[in-house]
Amino acid sequence: MDASYDLIVNSPGRINIIGEHTDYNNGFVLPTAIDKKIQFKFRKNNSDKNCLVKSVDFDTQFSFDLLEISKSETQWENYILGVVYEIQQLTSNLKGFDCVFKSEIPIGSGISSSAALECGLAFGLNELFDLKLTKLQIVELSQRAEHNYVGTKCGIMDQYASVMSKEGHVILLDCQSLEATYVPMNIAPYKLLLLNTNVSHNLASGEYNTRRQQCESGVAIIQKKYPAVQSLRDVSMEMLSEFKLDLSTVVFDRCSYVVQEKERTLNAVEALKNNDLKELGALMYQTHDGLQHLYEVSCKELDFLVDFSKKYEQVLGARVMGGGFGGCSINLIHETAVAQFTAEVSKAYFEEFEIKLTAFEAMPCEGTSIEK
Ligand code: ADP
Ligand code: MG
Repeated sequence: MDASYDLIVNSPGRINIIGEHTDYNNGFVLPTAIDKKIQFKFRKNNSDKNCLVKSVDFDTQFSFDLLEISKSETQWENYILGVVYEIQQLTSNLKGFDCVFKSEIPIGSGISSSAALECGLAFGLNELFDLKLTKLQIVELSQRAEHNYVGTKCGIMDQYASVMSKEGHVILLDCQSLEATYVPMNIAPYKLLLLNTNVSHNLASGEYNTRRQQCESGVAIIQKKYPAVQSLRDVSMEMLSEFKLDLSTVVFDRCSYVVQEKERTLNAVEALKNNDLKELGALMYQTHDGLQHLYEVSCKELDFLVDFSKKYEQVLGARVMGGGFGGCSINLIHETAVAQFTAEVSKAYFEEFEIKLTAFEAMPCEGTSIEK
């Protein structure tokens, strides 16, 4: 550790086995942190209000005054400023600090570099200034930072997984109650292989918010007849089908996907507990199908990867992971097939799109923590 810094914090990216676009609909998700992280170094700088933050990856830094926090024109700075702003809504004990961070999480790839950034900063400042925030407060303030400063109306999954994960487990998170069940991830001799399309569609965050609005507009219409319905969590396919003529086709499809995904996630957890990996894989393929055709957040590169994987019986399931429109697919694959599949899919992908695929295995790891 650089002697001039007081504190080192590691904040991981995350995967999600299943339960996509369900968090902001009060459904279930099944994420875990992985062994790709942003590492932060912090120190107090003995000033009352001057702060300096540096991204090694972007090779740039900026300074700000704790008494004059406002949004920046530079988007990455808003992840930092948003967290500082939200901390200041909870405590007045922040003082001047310097922070430098370096990341190994691919950016905009559905592994949530954004939550790792927010949560690592919040976690480190909490430690450095002994702010006495709970882990759940760190999770929730980081989500608010992304809503209020960045403008992405994300659900709670990414921040929750980055902070709360436990090695060797996935988290079945009920996004309505925030009740978490840690499920052991015993899938040997299978592995989780991520394939990064290295495509990140810039539309993503705008489209993300549009999906959220479409779900809310569906709920608003259903509520007129069923006032108890607060979110798609409270809607079954049977109930939804009553509204087929009242909802636009697009809104009906969006809602159908979410209602089905809620069931699928619970079924996937049962399959995982029963070590029925064939069933788990089949559910992942179904999720991809829904994300491709009903929720429409896939793209041709991801569809290519998922279709290609279906030629291999050693791949039990695959799907787009994260917000979509690019980023990674997650594949449930037998360990003996990883090398050959990776080589063949990379070759085919390059021939089709002239883009290099990046492949890596992921395993469940501990959430945000201090480096000892
Ligand atoms: P994802 O969370 O899937 O990686 P997002 O679009 O939600 O994608 O977040 C990516 C954004 O987070 C980047 O565009 C940048 O603004 C910020 N970010 C992530 N990692 C870094 C980094 N190492 N340095 C600076 N900003 C970063
Ligand atoms: Mg993100």
